[in-house]
Amino acid sequence: MKPLLEVKGLKKHFPVRNPLGRTEALVKAVNDVSFQLYEGKTYGLVGESGCGKSTTGRTLLRLIEPTAGEAFYQGKDIFQLKRDEFQKIRKQMQMVFQDPYASLNPRKRIGNTLEEPLKIHGIGTKEERIERVMSILDKVGLGMEHFYRYPHEFSGGQRQRIGLARALIINPKLVICDEPVSALDVSIQSQIINLLRRLQEDLNLAFLFIAHDISVVRHISDRIGVMYLGQMVEDAPTDNLFAEPLHPYTQALLSVVPIPNPKFKRERIILKGEIPSPLNPPSGCIFHTRCPHVMKICKTEPPVKKEIATDHFVSCHLY
Ligand code: SF4
Ligand code: MG
Repeated sequence: MKPLLEVKGLKKHFPVRNPLGRTEALVKAVNDVSFQLYEGKTYGLVGESGCGKSTTGRTLLRLIEPTAGEAFYQGKDIFQLKRDEFQKIRKQMQMVFQDPYASLNPRKRIGNTLEEPLKIHGIGTKEERIERVMSILDKVGLGMEHFYRYPHEFSGGQRQRIGLARALIINPKLVICDEPVSALDVSIQSQIINLLRRLQEDLNLAFLFIAHDISVVRHISDRIGVMYLGQMVEDAPTDNLFAEPLHPYTQALLSVVPIPNPKFKRERIILKGEIPSPLNPPSGCIFHTRCPHVMKICKTEPPVKKEIATDHFVSCHLY
């Protein structure tokens, strides 16, 4: 089976300009990210804030233009498409944000907000559009009584349901979820994750699921990519990653995840220091300033990505 989305060598470097407009430096926000996402599946992107996850997602929707790389959606490189060609594909790719409230018009009733994308794309008669809004409200666990309400009348969890409804209203195939549950209480988080899984089943959706919390990503992802300072350091099927994390950074992330069976408790790995600035990333392996296993070679030679076990990729000199 061919992937729905295949990202290869994606880079996004932001120039830092001085007051005269000259480029003084480059922030390498995304630096060589590759992964594949299949129809109806979820790819989880994890890493601490500022590691380039959101930038990756936004680049794929061409909200920002990439510096280099390719992204094939159903075989077509979306970065090479002309704007009008891209718009056709763009309908199949939607985004859900951490704070849906910020993107909801406070003066518009929810029903009208949800109808809007249909209007913009010239879909259906008024009656058909309203029917579609009602059915999508039902799908996300809201009802007719919510149609006439305003955004401020909803709780955080309900607003995220509305954010989902708006993303799904024009029948996308791929939804980029950027920290969709990070602002919610833990009990609400699992409701939304369960809803996402149900919707994925029902509608055969592919998700690119971005989160800083690996335990959130675990329950929805088929595969996970771990990012650090703009680079993907490990990429593996979720179960394999949790059973045998290979990269020292992944090992540290997983060591703090609570696990139900204390027999298998991992020793907590505390990383020294802070994440370095992406303006001045470390030489060699970008993780070497914090790695418990750092060797001499790590300080000068960047490790290359290797397939260590079937379908399990890691960039680290230990392997
Ligand atoms: Fe640590 Fe070296 Fe592996 Fe980097 S390459 S993660 S510094 S052991
Ligand atoms: Mg982010």
